[in-house]
Amino acid sequence: MSPDPTSREPADWTRGGEGLAFARCRACGHIQYFRRPFCPSCGGGDLAVAQASGRGRVYALTTVARAPSRELAAHAPYVVALVDAEEGFRFMAHAAEGLAIGAPVNTAFRAFGAVRVPYCLPQERE
Ligand SMILES: [Zn+2]
Repeated sequence: MSPDPTSREPADWTRGGEGLAFARCRACGHIQYFRRPFCPSCGGGDLAVAQASGRGRVYALTTVARAPSRELAAHAPYVVALVDAEEGFRFMAHAAEGLAIGAPVNTAFRAFGAVRVPYCLPQERE
């Protein structure tokens, strides 16, 4: 699956693009990462999908030593992080080694098996 270059939809890695998309409820302002046709906070259906910057801070980290399938075994061990995006949602991503809880990160994308997944790297120090 490849992204449609004429699409005005924000790039979304779960749909073959290289970006993180999220939705904001126009009625109550609730932010959600997982795509739903409604707002889980107020039940409204008027959602604005937007492109996230990919910037955030590490909330949690773990190292996966045993891959979930034979196809992915070549990647192990690999780091998986929960990251608090600056837009206000939390997402799961692969991550560079050596990050600490609270570290500021940017998000790139890299191959993992047959798909490309979010991959967090330390933000350059200003
Ligand atoms: Zn709402």
